[in-house]
Amino acid sequence: MKDLDIEITLSSKKKTIPPFDQLEFGRTFTDHMFIWDYTEGKGWHDPRIVPYQSIALDPAATVFHYGQTVFEGLKAYHTKDEQILLFRPDQNMKRLNRSNDRLCIPKIDEELALSALKQLIAVDRDWVPTVEGTSLYIRPFIIATEPHLGVEPARNYRFMIILSPVGAYYKEGINPVRIAVESDYVRAVAGGTGNAKTAGNYAASLKASESASENGYSQVLWLDGKERQYIEEVGSMNIFFKINGEVITPVLNGSILEGITRKSIIELLKYWNIPVVERKISIHEVQQAYNDGLLEEAFGTGTAAVISPIGELFWQNEKLAINNGEIGQLSKKLYDSLTGIQKGTEPDPFGWTLKL
Ligand SMILES: *Cc1c(COP(=O)(O)O)cnc(C)c1O
Repeated sequence: MKDLDIEITLSSKKKTIPPFDQLEFGRTFTDHMFIWDYTEGKGWHDPRIVPYQSIALDPAATVFHYGQTVFEGLKAYHTKDEQILLFRPDQNMKRLNRSNDRLCIPKIDEELALSALKQLIAVDRDWVPTVEGTSLYIRPFIIATEPHLGVEPARNYRFMIILSPVGAYYKEGINPVRIAVESDYVRAVAGGTGNAKTAGNYAASLKASESASENGYSQVLWLDGKERQYIEEVGSMNIFFKINGEVITPVLNGSILEGITRKSIIELLKYWNIPVVERKISIHEVQQAYNDGLLEEAFGTGTAAVISPIGELFWQNEKLAINNGEIGQLSKKLYDSLTGIQKGTEPDPFGWTLKL
């Protein structure tokens, strides 16, 4: 494991750490942040940890106009024996570089970026919350900073990492969510940027989420942009169905984001010898399975919630109630196992966790 030589400037005025049982998602940030600059011809230079602060950018910076930017999201967990665990952070750095490639952003050295992430968390170690279900959310991201309105890849970039202590996603037990199948808007198309973690995808998704929530649904289920029938994702999560004993998730087709939770669930299911397949699955097939009484469970997966069971799917004026609106047995088992590995209360046969 390579180490990045980082200049560290500690904050002279420490913030008050909020009570760990009252945290919201992504509103409070720790005392420090990491910055690494890129200049064409020079590469990535001047890695530094500085007090958390505003940044000054030229109003013509490419990121503001053409959205040349990528991000990642992962969590650090406090264990019972006072250790801090990261969950598959190498996978996030790999994915960051895949997103970089798609957005014409220069690659980072994955090991050095991970070293930076570990050093930043070590500096803000007291901010990793200790209350059951809480964690430290880590947001690495890169923006194009060159002041230039020409449409071409920028020559200058900034890689940053910020940290935010986040509350338990499920405070009163896991409640399945109601999901509306989206038939007007699409999230991404094959050949587009759906498989990159880049800002534009999220900006483009807001309108559909907003109308779903006006109708009492917590998120939308996205269909493919071409035939408008194959299932892609749910909100900003990957999706799984359990139909007649078999677990099915849409195969990665270029417009689906390759979730690390998704990948881990597939690996866990295989380890347990539970049938799991990655293939195209249409909304019609799901409806048919429902009509035949074979649709057993459905759930979204992602870093924030880990597993988010779907209790109802609304599609063409029909409500498909899944597992009586309750969390399914397999969803529960996957949730317990994954969160157990993440916080170090369950054995980790895959070597997924990394001690700080
Ligand atoms: C980040 C993300 C996911 C989930 O990825 P994880 O690595 O499991 O957190 C799924 N879909 C979209 C669109 C995402 O942005």
